[in-house]
Amino acid sequence: MVTQVARAIGLKLGLPKLLGRKEDEVAEIAKVLAGMMLVGVEKRARCIHYDPSTGLCRFLRIAYPLPWMSVDKDGDEYRIRVSKHPEICSVCPFWKPIDGDEE
Ligand code: SF4
Repeated sequence: MVTQVARAIGLKLGLPKLLGRKEDEVAEIAKVLAGMMLVGVEKRARCIHYDPSTGLCRFLRIAYPLPWMSVDKDGDEYRIRVSKHPEICSVCPFWKPIDGDEE
């Protein structure tokens, strides 16, 4: 199942063409990304900085938007719509659990 999801993600991103690698190597990369996304979804759901009504992170801001990233302009900066990018939450050092959600 994870392999199928990983392959689907890799193919959706056009990784085989982009990277010019064999499908198995791309599937391995996509598996890592799939794992990051699963972890990110869980972290995001338990983070006090996540605003589920907008899908935005209230803490992280970036100076320049990346073309493939969903963001919301906030003054001179951009907020990341982490509802569409759980991989950001998976590696985020600013994650702060909702009170009482620590184990
Ligand atoms: S984990 Fe990081 S990026 Fe995700 S909502 Fe929390 S502070 Fe924002």
